[in-house]
Amino acid sequence: MTRTAKARMAILRGFVLLVILSWAGTAALADGETAPARDPKQPVDDAYTAKIHKYTTQPFFTSPLVDYLPASKSVPTPEVVLGDVAGAPLILPYAEEVYKYMRLLEKNSPSVKVFSIGRTEEGREMIAVAISSPENLKNLEENRARLSKLADPRTIKLDDQEADRTVAQAVPVYYITGTIHSPETGAPTALMELAYRLAVDESPYIREIRDGMITLITPVVEVDGRDRMVDIYRWHLSHPQDFYPPLIYWGKYVAHDNNRDAMGVTLKLTENVLKTYVGWKAQVLHDLHESVPYLYDNTAGDGPFNAWVDPILTDEWEMIGWRNVSDMTKFGMPGVFTHGVFDTWSPGYLMFIAAMHNGISRLYETFGNGGADTLERALDPQDYARTWYRQNPPLPKVLWSQRDNNNYEQTGLLTSLHYFNENKRLFLKNFYLKAKRSVTKPAAEGPVAYVLPADDPRAGSQAELLRVLEKQAVEISRAPAAFTVTLPVKKSAKSKKDGKDREEKDAPPAPTTRDFPAGSYIVRMDQPYSRIADALLDYQYWSPDDPQKTPYDDTGWTFGELFGVQVTRVTDPKVLDVRMERVKEIHAPAGVSGDGTIYAINNNAEPALATLRYKLHDASIEAAEEPFESGGKKFSRGSFLLRNVSRAQLTEAISDLGFEAMAVSAMPSVKTHAVRAARVAFVHTWLSTQAEGWWRIALDNLGVPYDYISTQTVSKTSDLNAKYDVILFPPVGFFSSPTAVINGLPSTWGNPLPWKNTPETPNLVGKNDSTDDMRPGLGWEGVRNLESFVAKGGVLLTAADTSRLALSIGLADGVSVGNAQKLKIVGSVVGARLVDSRSPIAYGYDEKLSVYCDNGPIFSLSSISGARGGRRLGGETHTRPTGRGTMDDPDFTIGRPGYEVPEEPKAEIWENPLLTDEQLHNNFRVIPPANRARVIFRYADSKELLVSGLVEGGDEIAQHPAVVDVPTGSGHVVLFSINPVYRGETRGTYSLVLNTILNFDSLNAGRKLAEK
Ligand SMILES: [Zn+2]
Repeated sequence: MTRTAKARMAILRGFVLLVILSWAGTAALADGETAPARDPKQPVDDAYTAKIHKYTTQPFFTSPLVDYLPASKSVPTPEVVLGDVAGAPLILPYAEEVYKYMRLLEKNSPSVKVFSIGRTEEGREMIAVAISSPENLKNLEENRARLSKLADPRTIKLDDQEADRTVAQAVPVYYITGTIHSPETGAPTALMELAYRLAVDESPYIREIRDGMITLITPVVEVDGRDRMVDIYRWHLSHPQDFYPPLIYWGKYVAHDNNRDAMGVTLKLTENVLKTYVGWKAQVLHDLHESVPYLYDNTAGDGPFNAWVDPILTDEWEMIGWRNVSDMTKFGMPGVFTHGVFDTWSPGYLMFIAAMHNGISRLYETFGNGGADTLERALDPQDYARTWYRQNPPLPKVLWSQRDNNNYEQTGLLTSLHYFNENKRLFLKNFYLKAKRSVTKPAAEGPVAYVLPADDPRAGSQAELLRVLEKQAVEISRAPAAFTVTLPVKKSAKSKKDGKDREEKDAPPAPTTRDFPAGSYIVRMDQPYSRIADALLDYQYWSPDDPQKTPYDDTGWTFGELFGVQVTRVTDPKVLDVRMERVKEIHAPAGVSGDGTIYAINNNAEPALATLRYKLHDASIEAAEEPFESGGKKFSRGSFLLRNVSRAQLTEAISDLGFEAMAVSAMPSVKTHAVRAARVAFVHTWLSTQAEGWWRIALDNLGVPYDYISTQTVSKTSDLNAKYDVILFPPVGFFSSPTAVINGLPSTWGNPLPWKNTPETPNLVGKNDSTDDMRPGLGWEGVRNLESFVAKGGVLLTAADTSRLALSIGLADGVSVGNAQKLKIVGSVVGARLVDSRSPIAYGYDEKLSVYCDNGPIFSLSSISGARGGRRLGGETHTRPTGRGTMDDPDFTIGRPGYEVPEEPKAEIWENPLLTDEQLHNNFRVIPPANRARVIFRYADSKELLVSGLVEGGDEIAQHPAVVDVPTGSGHVVLFSINPVYRGETRGTYSLVLNTILNFDSLNAGRKLAEK
């Protein structure tokens, strides 16, 4: 500790002693700690305080920190904007009102500053409010420079003494984020009042926080969703006797998954919070949620913890979490606990931005009523049970108000802030140490770097992956010249007991090397944010034997695999000596070479090919049905041949897509078909829109246009073919049973549930869809319309649960869905294998493909209509019947010569079962070869199924079809077992969907039919 810090501590201690002496009766405190109690010299806002008491339903649902409001002559309370106190019944402010208040605070208090941090998808503003002493706010830049030294220890040459000096002077930043989950409504008012308290309260407890640190608050993270939620609540208030519509849309694209975007950073809210967190060099990111009674610090779960977080952090979780529980327990507040059901494995949560950037991630679940009604709430037994980590559990049944929730949120935050401030030197030093350990990673646990080769055939997807890293504040370098690295020697998988192996061990295999061409990208691990790069690019393994049997979220995510690009993990320290330059902006090489008016672009299953098709609407584009060579260059099946486009136009169009086009003077002699810009309908339900939201954002970002229609529109449109060539019906997610999709929400009772703009609900629609009544589903009319669409030549594409739906209502024949008995694939990356490379759906793909899978469904094939394909396990063997001889011998019958057993036709699991003569005899159920399912990709063999994450009981799905094209009538039903478009993480499988769209009228290309 430096001398100034020591002196400061002494002054502080003396002051604290004074405080303790002057107010007998407060809880006993450890040495040097300040009592949580108000300053008796500061007047209280009596009217406001009286209302706090009135709206708090039990005396023990509050604390000495929030059961009063200090008065201020100059600073307005939240009442000026809300018309009542924070947490008052029936009041939910729009984001704009929250901002208005925060800006009033800024105007009237020198301790508050408001910053605009970006816009949402629908153009709404996001803000961050800094609260600290006027002096700290004046010195923000100076302080940021100090924090930057700790955040990037390379700037002080990893000098611990310099770090200590900086730690002694720096003011830490604690970043709080509210209401990312729109139905969890309490945080904005709690944070308005918290901001007021932090700016105004003169009690030593609060003043220490104000003087000692910077509290940064984003009161509304999901701003689009907040405004919709407030709309719904106002509708509810003006129709008190009616059921009110569920919040079907939160943000423009996704709902609850907005808190699963911290890996892919696809949403604006993630990007804005990430930039703010990293830009402020904050130490903590504390995200507020409301789904567990009464305050659950679910920062630290019961494991397995994410493998890439620093153990220093996991200890910090426990320190702050348990101290929080302890403080609030002493206040007599029931139901405060930590530990619990969270596992802390996936880094997708918003708070994990901090965990992956050397800070401290925190998350509260408090108890919300989904609005501002005061409600009688009864809990399930497991929620009020006393457990080792919850010694003072919530009560089985209570009257609960928004004010109660606000009391818990504010008390938890204030005790956290205070504890953090008292120990800020420790936490700042930890912040430095975690950053330092990120920088020294190569020499410690490794790896040394990741390399993405310059000759990756998917330059566009490679650039997209690098852009994700760029958003994550990861430094990316590029080598101007070729270089070589030594690869680690793979250990033999054979048993070590084997004598032969031991011999081999004596003579270790020569190390292998790999050459990388000039221009290859290097992600060095000796940088402060190496942790997030490593977590995204590495592989995950979740053991089926792990005591944790219910993973909280996805178990695998390896980005190189899911993006379909090459990533090499390098442990050879020499790679750091390779000459390289920092990349300022990622640019995939693109351009046009050669001479001629026809342009060839190789197909490597890059999603941007679809962008190109829709961008160049006047160009005529054809796809080659076979590989060909032109101008000495090899082109794969599906490669584009463009005409009616000028060189300049094409150059412009591909400049940021990562394509290298080759001009040729004549069409290559290869069979082609037209690639037309299909008219696409995108179908959603009124049950849940999140899973499809990830598809929507992907198509929007790619510039693939579509009509966004609901199942209700499908049921009302008898001639879908007149408007559309392709109907995408992405997964529904929640409430996705076939009956739910067809019947919709119950409508034989209750009232209509409108989703449209009205005077009470001005923000509902946004740019999405609207209806007078959300309840009706697809209906049988809708089923008939889909059926007729396909029969008349349309292409229907389904995935996961909508594939289940399509099969259960008979939209496709020859494929059935089996029920898993033991299969457990919880959001994992699994292997798929190409079955039919001639199908246009497979254009650009290699033999091996990594896909995202979440428990199937398990498809089986049948060549007989209506028959369920047996659920066959891999490696099934047919043994001979019981009898004489060995297993391979024929049996005999006494008294007559032996006979030959006719050979039964056999097919692989991913092939249509071959038919016996018996089955073929006068069988009108036999599906003609041209109508049988065409498997494009299948799941890999059992041993190769797991790529990343958890796979248990994989035998059940191994080798089964993963992507199937079923010709039906004149059209096609294309069924996915996998989810090809998910959370901005699965770019490598997007083209399976896009190829279907682009080749919608040529899907039978290259098809080989069975003989019978
Ligand atoms: Zn939540």
